[in-house]
Amino acid sequence: MAVEVRLLEGLDPEQRAAVTAPRGPVCVLAGAGTGKTRTITHRIAYLVQRGLVAPQQVLAVTFTARAAGEMRTRLRGLGAGGVQAQTFHAAAFRQLRYFWPRVHDMRLWQLLDNKFRLVMQAANKVGASTDKETVRDAAAEIEWAKSSLIAPEDYPAAAVRAGRDGPLLPAQQAQLFTAYEQLKNRAQQLDFDDLLLHIAAILEEHPDVGEEFRGQYRSFVVDEYQDVNPLQQRVLDAWLGNRDDLTVVGDANQTIYSFAGASPKWLIGFSRRFPEATTVRLERDYRSTPQVVALANEVIGAARDRPAGTRLRLSGQRPAGPEPDYAEHDDETAEAAEVSRRIAKLAANGVPLSEIAVLFRVNAQSEAYEKALSDAEIPYQVRGGERFFARTEVRQAMAALRTAAAHDDLGPDLPAAVRSVLHEVGLTDEPPAGGTARDRWESLIALVELAEELATTVADAGLPRYVAELEARAEAQHPPTVEGVTLASLHAAKGLEWDAVFLVGLVEGTLPIQYADTDAAVEEERRLLYVGVTRAREHLRLSWSLARSGGGGRPRRRSRFLYPLVPDGHPAAMPGKARQRAVVARAAAGTDKPECRVCGGALSGTMDIKLGRCAQCPADLDEDLLGRLKAWRGERARQLKVPAYVVFT
Ligand code: ATP
Ligand code: MG
Repeated sequence: MAVEVRLLEGLDPEQRAAVTAPRGPVCVLAGAGTGKTRTITHRIAYLVQRGLVAPQQVLAVTFTARAAGEMRTRLRGLGAGGVQAQTFHAAAFRQLRYFWPRVHDMRLWQLLDNKFRLVMQAANKVGASTDKETVRDAAAEIEWAKSSLIAPEDYPAAAVRAGRDGPLLPAQQAQLFTAYEQLKNRAQQLDFDDLLLHIAAILEEHPDVGEEFRGQYRSFVVDEYQDVNPLQQRVLDAWLGNRDDLTVVGDANQTIYSFAGASPKWLIGFSRRFPEATTVRLERDYRSTPQVVALANEVIGAARDRPAGTRLRLSGQRPAGPEPDYAEHDDETAEAAEVSRRIAKLAANGVPLSEIAVLFRVNAQSEAYEKALSDAEIPYQVRGGERFFARTEVRQAMAALRTAAAHDDLGPDLPAAVRSVLHEVGLTDEPPAGGTARDRWESLIALVELAEELATTVADAGLPRYVAELEARAEAQHPPTVEGVTLASLHAAKGLEWDAVFLVGLVEGTLPIQYADTDAAVEEERRLLYVGVTRAREHLRLSWSLARSGGGGRPRRRSRFLYPLVPDGHPAAMPGKARQRAVVARAAAGTDKPECRVCGGALSGTMDIKLGRCAQCPADLDEDLLGRLKAWRGERARQLKVPAYVVFT
């Protein structure tokens, strides 16, 4: 009883209602930082500790390996360590290993080791272009189709309906998709989506297997449910059968995978599907300072397509902190150098490096920051845990460690044993200066640190025990971590939190990304910014630069999302030249030229009227402003006695 009471302490009344709801459908719809993940982990622990469900009967799923690892850690801390918390894929893989041999009477096929190469072969076979970009984008189309449960023959119609902008004509993409499936099946290999497709099919088509499965797993929990795709939903339905012991939590405003087929419709429609569900809304933000919360509200408040029921406003619960900061830089190198200086300052003021993150839109942006941090000798790790075990140096290291463990002639003293094996695959005592050598070193040192961790937590830990731990982590895609600043994409940062967050490279073409060419795609980019902003507990800095490293290339403009956010009078409120141009234009016009409500710049006349947008920031002009602009143009034309269709700026 005492333990149960402790589990309910530190929860607010709404969270407590979700935690203590009887077994059955429960839905928590809430904004970022309101304690959704905390609520589900407490709920699992509560049900387990009250004896309402056995730990091994619970299956908790989420979308990234990192988030699953985080959930396992939280569950262990709550005394529910035996509960399986995994990604959809890891859970499906585990189940397939058990059921596949029984159903198909053969060993489970291998996981596809080089998808890119196979898609390239398929492209070649159907006479499509095999350049890198085409192959990569064609692979993404295949993933979208499989996640959306679209068969090759249905691809052309579905792609047109969904407005997909794939690299090939739909008919050829469909041929390529067919060829890819044939090549893969012939090689008896499975891609990631196959894991889900096969387990769903096995559970649906083999009643005995379904029954056995349902005897084993009785209670399901899904975190980040807003990002479930049709394939994952089908798997979830296959797991459930006609039962309803399902707890889901999510935030429709954090839907960031709809480009890949995900949809918040199942989250939003949950209480329609399960009318008897306990539905809880949380609005108190426990993660961030009121300053960060206010900014988050502003970012998402500007969203244009928020479905009903998702317009929650967060209210900050923490003490006040510093105002979010904005900065404009001449180029990326200067931006990265400043970020690294500020990180050093935060660290000097006692913020642990592991509590600091630099978040960006695309992985390529990471390089400038890796270099700046290496130069400043600040340790860092690049997120993307899923890829850790696929890295060449990690695979080599694991092979060497396995061999050493099999002979285990190095004795039990563990970190030193691991170090000595890793020296053989290139570990140096000192970190190399930067670049790929530094990356390799970071991965290897992470393996050493895992050994150190194990040596302090497990009595008599030797190499075999260590290798077993490593294999288990590889299977669960749960990489060891190094103490250091986190560099991560916004997608990989979902669900996580840090004391200090740097959102970098916020320029048009990057956020929103240049291929976001529909309103819906731009809105998804806005939600990514919302996800980024809401990762910060206290310090938040948003920055951008007007040129690439070295100043080359086309000039850049700051992201359109920033215009309503940067406060008036802030040095970064407006690029100097643009402000100057605006002032000059206004003086030249001699009348009050209307200003854009978003960026404050003078509107440029005919072009803006034609586009219905401000030419300096891409804000749409409302009717009132358009009317005033037209009136201004007429007046100006009258003064100059020229026809009104002349463009003035
Ligand atoms: P996201 O949408 O980003 O995934 P979330 O809703 O899952 O966020 P959590 O990660 O569960 O939020 O919680 C955010 C932070 O607030 C965590 O540090 C958590 O420990 C803390 N927190 C949650 N609920 C409470 C509470 N009732 N009292 C104090 N702290 C809380
Ligand atoms: Mg969460």
